[in-house]
Amino acid sequence: MIDPSARADLIISADWLIPVEPTQTVLKDKAVVVQGGTISEVLDRSEAARRPTEQRIDLPGHVLLPGLINAHGHGAMSLLRGYADDLPLMPWLEDHIWPAEGAHVSADFVRDGSSLALAEMLLVGTTTFSDMYFFPDVVAEVASRTGMRCQLASPVFDMPSAWGSGADEYISKALALRDHCKGRERITVAFGPHAPYTVALDKLEKIATYAAELDMPVHIHLHETAGEVLAAVEARGERPIDTLQRIGLLGPRTQCVHMTDLGEQDIGTLAQTGAQVIHCPQSNMKLASGTCPVPRLLAAGVNVALGTDGAASNNDLNLFNEMHSAALLAKLSSGDPTVLDAAQTLELATLGGARALGLEDVTGSIVVGKQADLIAVDLSGPSTQPLYKPLSQLVYACTGAEVTHSWVAGAALMENRELKTLDVDATIARAREWGRRIQA
Ligand SMILES: [Zn+2]
Repeated sequence: MIDPSARADLIISADWLIPVEPTQTVLKDKAVVVQGGTISEVLDRSEAARRPTEQRIDLPGHVLLPGLINAHGHGAMSLLRGYADDLPLMPWLEDHIWPAEGAHVSADFVRDGSSLALAEMLLVGTTTFSDMYFFPDVVAEVASRTGMRCQLASPVFDMPSAWGSGADEYISKALALRDHCKGRERITVAFGPHAPYTVALDKLEKIATYAAELDMPVHIHLHETAGEVLAAVEARGERPIDTLQRIGLLGPRTQCVHMTDLGEQDIGTLAQTGAQVIHCPQSNMKLASGTCPVPRLLAAGVNVALGTDGAASNNDLNLFNEMHSAALLAKLSSGDPTVLDAAQTLELATLGGARALGLEDVTGSIVVGKQADLIAVDLSGPSTQPLYKPLSQLVYACTGAEVTHSWVAGAALMENRELKTLDVDATIARAREWGRRIQA
């Protein structure tokens, strides 16, 4: 029972509120009451004005919505933004990205690259991200310092790297990271097998066993291109998704990233196993990888989240851009402008992401009892006027620069576009230094 005379920690009011749950809902003149980091009430603005509170923020011209969730990325790769462009996936990886990573990746590279990524993501309204990269223990420290919520997909692949000798060591490191991050409320740890073509089958089986025993999420690039699927069929006589299902690696805790080249049978397998799909439309378009059939997946009851992928294949970490691209790509590829409307698209970037990462009880919508992970977006500027439908402006007109405030568990990470937990100038200076070193 709510005691209206109790003092709140924070009350944020705005012209509109989009809770994401229930879907298609846009509320006028509302306020969110925050107590102990959680959303304790959603009230009319006039009533909220009479409530006692430690801090009150009123945002005319703004819409309040859940913080955005970037369900797939490789944060530190932001130091390779624009390093190699306009190439297909395998030559891009094998001739450019992997050699550059081999020469430069270190704990310092990951610390500075992740800081750059987090600064960029925070400035465009992302409050939760999933990261798959070397030295995830370093990413954990950067994330803890900034206060963002994250899932660390501890990478596993067969090749040796600056971070370890091969799959067995990477699997051990994933388990150690899980122990290391225990008790950190904002961090979850997943296994991050890179892809079925970079991790041997017996190692994938080992991950399946551990993941089932420990109830750990598994985050994997899957069906990124038709070429990947064809090569697997030629080598093993089955599609990668069928291999994963056969070895017990496909279930509600499995996050399948990309998922292009899907037939009806594949979609049925995803629906039947409850596996999650993470759609990265800009990366898929830039590398001409293929198209994830989002409307068909949603119609089959498969949960879909959005991810930017790494900045080397996008080249930004901006979920507003990703929402825009996801909606337009779905319409173009299906020949149907009615699919993936603005509300559904925002849902992919919020609640869809929370479900994919197993965080639907924590974040992803403005619901009493969830953590107060919120952003405020200023819709009063020229590119969002006149204002018929806030949802349309968010998905089809906003660029991310309109985000003015963000909070994670009620703590302000950005106020009036100023980051509170990250020194942007110092972060950019270190990124420039890496650019000079990598180009040398
Ligand atoms: Zn990726």
